[in-house]
This record gives sequence, C-alpha cells and structure tokens, in this order.
Amino acid sequence: MKELLTKNFWRDVKRTFDEAHEGPATGSPTNTNVSAPAGATAKVQATAAELRAILFDMDGVLYDADRSIAGAVETVQWVQSEGIPHLFVTNTTSQSRADLVCKLAIFGIAAIEAEILTPSAAAAEWLRTDAKGSVAAFIRPAARKEFADLPLLPEDAERGAAYVVIGDLGDLWDYRTLNRAFRLLYHHPEAKLIALGMTRSWMAADGIALDAAPFVVALAHASGRKPLVFGKPSGAFFRAAADRLGMAPGQLLMIGDDIETDVGGAQAAGLKAALVKTGKFRATDLDQAIRPEFVLDSVADLPRQWGGGRSDV
Ligand SMILES: [Mg+2]
Repeated sequence: MKELLTKNFWRDVKRTFDEAHEGPATGSPTNTNVSAPAGATAKVQATAAELRAILFDMDGVLYDADRSIAGAVETVQWVQSEGIPHLFVTNTTSQSRADLVCKLAIFGIAAIEAEILTPSAAAAEWLRTDAKGSVAAFIRPAARKEFADLPLLPEDAERGAAYVVIGDLGDLWDYRTLNRAFRLLYHHPEAKLIALGMTRSWMAADGIALDAAPFVVALAHASGRKPLVFGKPSGAFFRAAADRLGMAPGQLLMIGDDIETDVGGAQAAGLKAALVKTGKFRATDLDQAIRPEFVLDSVADLPRQWGGGRSDV
C-alpha cells in the first residue's frame, strides 16, 4: 500500500490516460515550476504576457459546498465582460454538467454545459468510442445522466463488466459496494478500472471528506489493476481543456484550491497555476515540492492581480 501512495504512483496517474491513447510516455512530464511567490500579494506578472485563458476549479474556488465564496461571482462576471476565454474544470462527479449549470446560476454565474469539463463527461465520451462491453458505474444517481446512453450493468451485478467506473459516491460507499466493485474486477481480468479524477479529499459542508481517489487506490491495490484516470490530475484532461479553448497549455492559468490535483497536475501538463487560500487550502500546502506560480487570498483577487501584471488587458 505504501508503494501505491508514493510520488511515482501520482506521476503514473498523470500518465495513464495518455498511455491508453498514445502508448507509454517516452520521458518524464515537464515540470514548469518556478519559484514560489512571496505571498498573497504576488502579482501575475512574470508569465502574464503568456496567459490568455483561465481554467476555474469550482469547489473551493467559486464556492464551498453550497456557500458562494465572497467575490467569486464578480470575478467570473469580470472574466466574461473582458472576453477572456475560460472553462470551469471540476473533478466533481456527484452532479451532471446540467446540474452544475443550475448550481452556478443560483450563485449568479451564467454558464453553459459546453463551458464545463468534468471527468464523467470525458469518460462517457471515451466509453462511447471504446465500447467493448458493459459498464458498472459507481457514481451518484444525479451524475448518471452522462452515462445514460451506455450499456450499464444492473446495480447488483458482480460479474460482466468490461469497465468499472469509480466516482465520488460519498456516504453511499459501504463495504458491500466497494467489494462489489472489487468482484467485478476480479472476475474479469480484462476489465478496465476507470477513475473519475484522483482527488483525495474535498471540503464538504460538514468538514473535510474523502473523494474518489482513496477508493480507486483501494481497488487498484486489491485487483492489481492500474486505473485509467479521467479528470485532474491527468495531463490529458488539462490538454483536452486547452484543445477545447484552441490554445497551447502554456497560455492557460489553472486556478484551484488543491495543490496536488489542480496545481501539480496543471503544471505537469505545461499550464501555469494559481493556488487560492480558500476551500481545502492549508498553510502547509506552500511547503510542498509543488510550487504554484501564483498564490491568491481568493479568486476575488484575480481581476486586480491579472490587470496588475498585464499591460494589454
Ligand atoms: Mg477544488
């Protein structure tokens, strides 16, 4: 188990989706880390000239569970009024993109489904093209819309899956459910273990909570199967965002509250990253080997910092 939780495991997680499509990587991911900023007042300066678009993580950046983060709505409205290309990039698998559009609307943020990139949407799209058999989806009912047109196994099946998809089931996880996922993998050695993101935890309304990664790691360990990751920190997921915006990764600024999946994942894919001190941020995040290019007190600081470092905006 210890071995699975090493840096190498996370580096492999960033590669796994690439390998499925393109064969094994030929070298280590490029790390574009630069020195850590002096603090929350650091300006988006050094690399500002390269930045053309923004990727917003949602939970912990725009809102904490059901509470809007102060200034987030105004920041998104500023980005929209300035015409800065942007996407909302989230590992949330408890809701569909349609649900997320509604959630943003409640906070006063106008968005459409095409502006939201989720692991469920990416995985469902891939499954439609791979289509080698039945899908066992361990995701919350609200998120099943994305998979509705796929051949889903009954929820009590213990055999017959070509794909075992693991998302954030939250408190719907129990031993029986986790063991059913294991049995599906065990009985079909060719079955693929698909992870909807590899986020370790998130800040729920009642406190820090396990996300999908701990359950994926448990199943990977028990089955000896390597997960195919759709979502952060997979490099392919960030590159898909860049492709959708028609830009090079280096022109994108990823804004997130997760030093590992948001900042580390984005940097490994060639993006620049800003860490916000909201959501699940902890002061010790700044002591890690991963160094964000920028640190913001919250996403509310973005217009001032972006404008402060750029002459052409
Ligand atoms: Mg987050």
